[in-house]
Amino acid sequence: MAEILSSPIEYLKGVGPQRGDLLKKELGIFTFRDLLEHFPYRHIDRTKINLISSITPQTDFIQVTGRVISVEVIGEKKSKRFVATIKDSSGTLDLVWFQGVAWAQKAIQVGKEYFVYGRAGFFQGSPQITHPEFEMSESENQVVKNFLEPVYPSSEKLKARGLGGRQFARLTLALLNMITEKDLPEILPDEICRQLELLPRFAAYQTNHFPANAEAYKKSLERLKFEELFIAQLRIGLLQSQRHRFSKGAMFSKVGEMFNSFYSGYLPFELTGAQKKVLKEIRKDTGSGKQMNRLLQGDVGSGKTIVALLAMLLAIDNGFQACMMAPTEILAKQHLDSMGSLLKDMPITVELLTGSTKSKQKKQILEQAANGSLNILIGTHAVIEDVVQFKNLGFAVIDEQHRFGVAQRARLWAKSLIPPHILVMTATPIPRTLAMTAYGDLDYSIMDELPPGRQPIVTVHRYESKRPEVMGFLKSEIENGRQVYIIFPLIEESEKMDYENLMKGYENVKAWFPEPKYWISMVHGRQSNEVKDTNMQRFLKHDTQIMVSTTVIEVGVNVPNATVMVIESAEKFGLSQLHQLRGRVGRGKEKSFCILLTSHKLNNEARERIKTMCGTNDGFKIAEKDLEIRGPGDISGTRQSGMLDFKLADIVKDRQLLETARQMAWKLLDDDPDLNASANQKLKNHLNAQHGKTQWSRIS
Ligand code: ADP
Ligand code: MG
Repeated sequence: MAEILSSPIEYLKGVGPQRGDLLKKELGIFTFRDLLEHFPYRHIDRTKINLISSITPQTDFIQVTGRVISVEVIGEKKSKRFVATIKDSSGTLDLVWFQGVAWAQKAIQVGKEYFVYGRAGFFQGSPQITHPEFEMSESENQVVKNFLEPVYPSSEKLKARGLGGRQFARLTLALLNMITEKDLPEILPDEICRQLELLPRFAAYQTNHFPANAEAYKKSLERLKFEELFIAQLRIGLLQSQRHRFSKGAMFSKVGEMFNSFYSGYLPFELTGAQKKVLKEIRKDTGSGKQMNRLLQGDVGSGKTIVALLAMLLAIDNGFQACMMAPTEILAKQHLDSMGSLLKDMPITVELLTGSTKSKQKKQILEQAANGSLNILIGTHAVIEDVVQFKNLGFAVIDEQHRFGVAQRARLWAKSLIPPHILVMTATPIPRTLAMTAYGDLDYSIMDELPPGRQPIVTVHRYESKRPEVMGFLKSEIENGRQVYIIFPLIEESEKMDYENLMKGYENVKAWFPEPKYWISMVHGRQSNEVKDTNMQRFLKHDTQIMVSTTVIEVGVNVPNATVMVIESAEKFGLSQLHQLRGRVGRGKEKSFCILLTSHKLNNEARERIKTMCGTNDGFKIAEKDLEIRGPGDISGTRQSGMLDFKLADIVKDRQLLETARQMAWKLLDDDPDLNASANQKLKNHLNAQHGKTQWSRIS
């Protein structure tokens, strides 16, 4: 059947080759279907016209109609603007353009009546709208009569070709008139539609573009969002269940000598309940004969590393090699040091491979990895290079996974004939459902417990003017034998100004803490790895009491004797970064502090972030807040996966719906894993037809 909705967009009446090309280039609209899925972002309700006199300083967006009584170009160069004054029965209003002055000048005609929409403001006591949407009232532009009129996302180029935000309505209406329910059939199982009282699919499309009222629009939006989320969850679920059922994985059938002797002889502490639970989950997965692909979320300091180590021992007990990848050299080196010392009395070989490993040594490591004599390889991105070949890699750990890209993770799969089990660890928690959506088909473990004896970190906000007190406090902590961090923002490590700031900051710290009473380490991204490492080691060994650094030490670094984290210009950091930095202290028995130093000028968002940090130590709460403030677009490491690209749904704002969609998708797959039931055929056909369009590729 030749599907009408698959027709190339240029064939739609009113489009043609030139506009067609633009639609493809500017908005990715290639087919009739794409146009239908180009949804309006708002609607105009022509019954709601306001009087100009009703505009107050509290007014936000507003619609008015009025006749243009005068126009004027004011100012020169940068302050040049076009002002058109309109008048209705109640008063006058200025419309102002700073951009597109010439264009607005041409479009606005004195004496004509216009319909105007925009955000109202006041300038020198008079109301005005800057860059309003507008349209001549008398014009025959009004496509739709009994509906709210849709306004669509468009672009400058399309506007110039007569396809502005409102002109799409004409095309979309024509298209909707050409098709019937047969062209856009229901895909969701009847049972689900009934249960959630969803609008039928075709009706939802119609209504979303041309709703009779706000209520109807809401219903259509809910239906379409649910469909998006449900289909996405179903794809994730299908992938996961296929992996659970069919993917072959290294078999860890026994708990052996290495695991047991380490556990009873060398483990320096009792595991927390959460650590034990996760270990059990890993054992179950790796003993199933299927490949494990698991995400471990645990707040900073919850003790993920030891879990990874124990799991690696399990691999070795079963005749496999293991590797662990960390995002920075500092962190990789730290893992080597701590694991090396924990394992020093055991017959286990551990090596470090990073970008700065000398070629002679690298050659040796590669040989040992290839001939199987190397048990554990720790490293940075260097471990995924093609030259690194294992004899039989069975387990791979990715620490602080949010620092790695999707493609890099995927390369680990190829390191062994049977793909190794993969444990992905992150301390940037995101809510569960979100994690499942963002990270695809990974199984999910959570460690929501800190090792015993930790005291909560006290976080305070201090203005720049309180620096003397803050420095005094640092001195008293150092006198008590503690160590401190002072962090400077170096957002772009290459930026000269930031760098100079850091150096100035360092000089400043030196002035407060003169040698030989005090010793300072400094670490930043411009140093060679050797220098970084030397400075880090000196701090680790307590040869220095103060670590001045940029965010290169943000993740993973573990110096339990450090008790104060001072963050300079804290207003410049994001929430998750602040939380990660704070996580560098509070790792030992002593009470720890995080001091957020800021200037007196704080914008609202920064104020909110600081308040959140002072209010809670809970990484999950902070993650929620972060999402609230920034939206989902920034969840690190997920953007490139394309998993958060929904046309209508917003996985933060629509979390509730996402949760419902997830539960329903999972239940459906539980009952009918291959979608063989007749009630699910519509769905299956749809998924097959869509196949290749959205790739839910495995991400690690
Ligand atoms: P993260 O989860 O942030 O990676 P780490 O694995 O670096 O945390 O652990 C933080 C600190 O807690 C380390 O010093 C580690 O030795 C210690 N630790 C981990 N598990 C326990 C435990 N069960 N009891 C006491 N200390 C622990
Ligand atoms: Mg860690």
